[in-house]
Amino acid sequence: MTETARLMVGTHLAAEMVANAAERAKKLQDETGVQPCLATVLVGDDPASATYVRMKQNRSKKAGIGSLSVVLPAETTTEELVAELGKLSADPAVHGILLQHPVPGHIDERAAFEAIDPGKDVDGVTMHAFAAMAFGEPGFVSCTPGGILRLLQAYDVPLEGAHAVVIGRSPILGKPAGMLLLASNATVTYTHSKTRDLAGIVRTADIVVAAVGRANFVRGDWLKPGAVVIDAGYNEGNVGDVHYEEATQVASLITPVPGGVGPMTIALLLEQTVDAAEAQTARIPRR
Ligand code: NAP
Repeated sequence: MTETARLMVGTHLAAEMVANAAERAKKLQDETGVQPCLATVLVGDDPASATYVRMKQNRSKKAGIGSLSVVLPAETTTEELVAELGKLSADPAVHGILLQHPVPGHIDERAAFEAIDPGKDVDGVTMHAFAAMAFGEPGFVSCTPGGILRLLQAYDVPLEGAHAVVIGRSPILGKPAGMLLLASNATVTYTHSKTRDLAGIVRTADIVVAAVGRANFVRGDWLKPGAVVIDAGYNEGNVGDVHYEEATQVASLITPVPGGVGPMTIALLLEQTVDAAEAQTARIPRR
């Protein structure tokens, strides 16, 4: 069998975005003495979450963005986490806040997210960010969906009038991904665990966004020939939500895992941290 799909690689585009963010961070620091700073908050000792946080801190450092690391024990209560996020929200030296999720099950994650000042919500997780995005108002977008849109735009994928099927409806990924596609004039179908005839619906898609969290879930024979496939999944062993070998026989464009959506997510996080630092610094009265 021959592979037909072209790869939609996120690595190069992400590197360009990070280089641009680094340049802006340096300019801000040179002109005002302010170094953009991203605070990361990790609750508990889940090794995968710790790795993600470390990765984000390392990338920040490379881009000249400072990072403040807050690590809280797994027993942290909602109130304690909310208080910590409130403190960071009020700290003028912190410009962006990332609460690594999922947080331990006993914590009210929504309450924690809402404790983040919307002006520092560079991961786009608050209701304010979601509403702004849904209304087409300026604001920080959720990083993975925002990264997906940038990737589609960079590869000149026609969105207007295209049928986009989003598999998954989580508040940080599936739902905002669909809203951003809708804002780009795609016709969007959301699917989820209660959807009937998922494969049949996916077969009608010009663009498929897989955000399920199940390895190799979307099969090649679910795809319309020539479909554009965005695999946002990241499962154990670097495996996406789409069966890559099968999908490449049918799709016209497909994101690899890793190296597709993942790098775009971090790039957008850094870009939005610099946006936040610039906006907050502009509000400081100059002498
Ligand atoms: P999530 O919160 O667990 O949501 C999963 C979604 O998939 C839910 O909406 C669920 O439907 C749906 N689903 C589950 N089983 C299904 C089935 N059998 N048929 C159809 N839909 C089904 O996960 P998430 O946070 O959105 O993450 C999804 C994936 O993206 C994971 O692999 C995660 O690791 C990855 N991810 C990657 C990045 C990145 O930077 N690349 C960032 C975030 C997440 P219900 O709503 O009905 O339960």
